[in-house]
Parts: sequence; C-alpha cells; structure tokens
Amino acid sequence: MKQNIRNYTYEQLENILIDAGEKKFRASQIFEWLHKRGSYINSFEDMTNISLSLREKLENEFSIDAVYIEKEYISKIDDTKKYLIRLNDNNIIESVIMEYKFGSSMCISTQVGCNMGCEFCASTKNGLIRNMETYEMLGEVYAPKINISNIVLMGSGEPLNNYDNVINFIKIINDDKGYNLGKRSITVSTCGIVPNIVRLAQDAKGINLALSLHSAIEEKRKKIMKIASKYTLEDTMRAIREFFIITKRRLSLEYSLIKGFNDGLEDVKALCNLCKTYLDGCEYYINLIKVNEISETNFKKPSDDTVMKFRDYLNNNGIVATIRRTLGEDISGSCGQLRNSYIA
Ligand code: SF4
Repeated sequence: MKQNIRNYTYEQLENILIDAGEKKFRASQIFEWLHKRGSYINSFEDMTNISLSLREKLENEFSIDAVYIEKEYISKIDDTKKYLIRLNDNNIIESVIMEYKFGSSMCISTQVGCNMGCEFCASTKNGLIRNMETYEMLGEVYAPKINISNIVLMGSGEPLNNYDNVINFIKIINDDKGYNLGKRSITVSTCGIVPNIVRLAQDAKGINLALSLHSAIEEKRKKIMKIASKYTLEDTMRAIREFFIITKRRLSLEYSLIKGFNDGLEDVKALCNLCKTYLDGCEYYINLIKVNEISETNFKKPSDDTVMKFRDYLNNNGIVATIRRTLGEDISGSCGQLRNSYIA
C-alpha cells in the first residue's frame, strides 16, 4: 500500500528525494505545498512548480489523501466548533476548536477510540479501533481552514501509545517551512505512559505536558484509571519531574472533580502532599475540571462551591490551581460523545 506523503518530516522527505536522484531544494517546494498554512493542496497535479515527471513519480510512489469534515457543530454560546472528521477508511473521529483571547486553540484526536479504559471517558467505551497516522492528525488541523495558534493532543486516544506518529506530527506542524506552530504552543496530554514521558521530553523538547491525574490517592486512582495499576503514582510523578528537568516547561496536572469521590478534604490534602513531595522546585499548575456527565457512568459534577473550596485549599497551600471553563456545552458535552452518538 502507498504511504501518505504527509506522513514524512521534512528531513525524511529530503532523504527520499535525494535517494531518488532529485535536487535537495525540491523537498522544500513539495513540503510547502503539503504543509504551509492555508495553501495545502490535495493532488500532486496542483504542484505547479514541480516538473511533470517528478509529479508522476510522486503519484506512483505515494498517496496524498486528505481527511474530510463530515459535520461541523458551532456553539451558540461561545463559538466553540466541534468537527466530526471522516478518515479514508470511513472511521470517524472528533476535533474541537475553542476561541480564546490569544487565538484559536484546537484539541485533536490521536487514535480512533482508546484502550486505556478511563472510567469517566466516552472515547474508550468501544476500545481501540486503530492508531491514527501522522497525515490524519495533520488533516484535523488543516481541514477547517482556520488559523490555529495552539494545539492540544487531548482528544480521543492516548498520544503516547501512538508515539512515532505523534512525534512526526509534532515535528511537521512545528517546521518553519510548513505550518510553523511553535513548540510552546503544543501540549501533549497523557494518562501516564511512564517510559514515554521521558522519551517525549527528549524527542520533542520545548512542548508542554499535561498529566491526567484525577486522584492523588493510589487506590482511588486505580478505581477510575486502569493505567494506575501499571504505573504507581510515585513512578508517574518522578517521570513528570524528569520531564520538567529536561524541558523546563511548566507542567499541567489535570484533575476532574467527581462528586463524592475525589472532591473531599482527604483528596485535596493528598494532592498537596503529592505535589510537594515530587514537584518541589518545578513549575506546575493544577487544572480543575468538573467531570463530564456521560450516560455510561453515574459520575456527577460537584457544586461550584465544592470546586472553589478545593481550588482555594490548593492556592492557600502555595499551589497554583485554576478552574477550567467548560466550552461548547450546547454542542454535546465531552470528547467522544459526539462520535459515539453519530456512529450508533
Ligand atoms: S481519558 Fe484519554 S487515555 Fe483515558 S480513555 Fe479517554 S482518551 Fe483514553
């Protein structure tokens, strides 16, 4: 089967062309057609500054298929846009664009489904269908034709379980000959694939890391996140500390508050202890989110008052914690829900 030409980093593309006896500068011409903001083409024929014979060679060797927006939903409350994206094998995935003062931030998926089994997540309910290829992740960004200033890999899938494709995605989207999105504007979110956290710090130095923590009490975390049975909190916290030491990028810890489960005094005390034990001297903050109420679980959101008390306790103990605004509430709540209801 032909490889999609958008799967290759600039360096890989250059090597392919040199091996085929072509001039080095062809790589930047082709790379621009594939990745430059707003000017992507979806057919080799449209590469008008490339000779016909090279276009034919490329056509024979590679595919250039894009992904397609199946459906767009726009929030009437806050202009959040959600997309159902159709991949070439007819699988459907979701992406979201949120508007902030600093620009448009996009949340993309990295796998079709997910096998991590986090209890509160709709994306995992049908398991993992397959990894997404690099060109499909890029397609999520390119397809809406909106100038994106920030990308979070926080949609369906565990990015660090699709490691090589995610690394190529980061290299390509960051390349100044293409989309040229700064590494500081890219965040990878993980449920805690410990060995790949440190690898990521080395392979994509400069990007941000978000850890889905959700409980600082080992036994509780195990109840809602399968990964906690594989890697202890200690291993996980040591890995993110290492990430900070290598990259010097501020860490983010994601904490979904579930009413009566992880929102009490013992929980916030455990969270303080955990942070002070492992992250002393690191820059980090805690992102508090009310859990998404999905039909597959009985989890409920805590009250505003509980959430504010939780935040204040952290702040009063010298830990920066913020409450994340919920965006796009009128266009089907959490990640994975839209897709599940569409394909049902
Ligand atoms: S929260 Fe992320 S890692 Fe966990 S099941 Fe959902 S998509 Fe997978």
